[in-house]
Amino acid sequence: MIYMTDKELFNELSYKRKNVYENLSEQEYKEMFELCDEYREFLDEGKTERECVEKSIKMAELHGFKNINSVKQLKTGDKVYKINRNKNILLAVIGSEDIKNGVNLVGAHIDSPRLDLKQNPLYESNDMALLKTHYYGGIKKYQWTAIPLAMHGVIFTKEGKKVTLNIGENDPVFCVTDLLPHLAKDQMTKKMIDGIEGENLNILIGGMPVKSEDVSEKVKFAILKHLNEKYGITERDFLSAEIEIVPAFKAKNVGLDESFVGAYGQDDRVCAFTTLKGIFAVENPKKTALAILVDKEEIGSTGNTGMLSAFFEMTLAEILEKINGNCTITDYNTTIENSACLSSDVGAAVDPNYESVYEKRNAAFAGCGMVLMKYTGARGKSESSDASAEFVYEIGKILDDNGVIWQTSELGKVDQGGGGTIAQYVANLNMDVIDCGVPVLSMHAPFEVTAKSDVYMAYKSYVAFYNNR
Ligand code: MN
Ligand code: MN
Repeated sequence: MIYMTDKELFNELSYKRKNVYENLSEQEYKEMFELCDEYREFLDEGKTERECVEKSIKMAELHGFKNINSVKQLKTGDKVYKINRNKNILLAVIGSEDIKNGVNLVGAHIDSPRLDLKQNPLYESNDMALLKTHYYGGIKKYQWTAIPLAMHGVIFTKEGKKVTLNIGENDPVFCVTDLLPHLAKDQMTKKMIDGIEGENLNILIGGMPVKSEDVSEKVKFAILKHLNEKYGITERDFLSAEIEIVPAFKAKNVGLDESFVGAYGQDDRVCAFTTLKGIFAVENPKKTALAILVDKEEIGSTGNTGMLSAFFEMTLAEILEKINGNCTITDYNTTIENSACLSSDVGAAVDPNYESVYEKRNAAFAGCGMVLMKYTGARGKSESSDASAEFVYEIGKILDDNGVIWQTSELGKVDQGGGGTIAQYVANLNMDVIDCGVPVLSMHAPFEVTAKSDVYMAYKSYVAFYNNR
């Protein structure tokens, strides 16, 4: 059919609005709910990039993956992983074809927006002890006040002992206080972006002064005493610490029908989790299957654990060398140019409360499947790698042939904003890449929402890609 009416476009011929739930068999329903139960556990155990890497290693080892550092040679069917600075991990299943025919890579990020402690965070004010923070990634600051928060991270003692902190997942928790409405006349008339200031995102950590000590800041002193007795840390140890303040609540089922998952950090741990499950489902692939989980996407993929670091290239070279005994620049280049990547990151699902920011012919709907995004970017596709027609066709066909329900979208109306992902940095390596992933509601909020059916379809997409490209 050459011409489609809007009704046909939306209801019949297009992938748009094909509700996944309506199209699942009983067996698939079961698989979907089981997958999402495991997904919620993954979210609860992985609230920082370090925790996600730790959890990924545990899961990978259960599936027969070995640390590549302990392996001298690689052959067909071998499963290995490589860790980068505890925040970034690459997994590989070696294929039966010559690796120079290219690899199939799926990449997701495991950092999420949050509040980081400053280097000199602890102070006392008005008989309370508080911690200064510097937010990480694109947050709406008002969303982070008056909710229970937890503290996760690492801190080194003066003697060099690494202490892992994970406080607040049960009791006690922490919080950022907000102004009572009775006294918020000035605050409430401000623009939303100025309503809460970054320097006011201070964490309440204590309020009980020491009785005996002759010190001026008795509450602060009591907190330091507690930290020292329990963890052996002193105030100066905060200087080198990486401590992340994240929502304290656990992942939940949302809706009477439990059709959604609500949780912190689903951007982009929903794609990280489904990518892991995807590569675990791959046995003896033709092309070598790779999965990379990166850090720092939310602040521009920078740093030595972000997608812009050489970690991916170095690890691919190491894999080539361990398969072939050496890795020439030509072999490496041939491998890269024949490779393909799914940059698996979340999309924006149409929010019934804010329909006007979406252009609904080109928007993703929660519950309507994995979303394929030819391009992202902002202000005229800036910062987008824009997948080629050839590659979009190739991936679309793989998804169709394997019963994946999918949809296409851009991030929102053309002039409304936009965003980027790791895709552009993968494309720079001279590899085909397209963005795809799970549509999310309330993206970057402390409690993000995804449809279970979309989580399931993302998983199926990655399995289809690994096994069929
Ligand atoms: Mn993301
Ligand atoms: Mn994001």
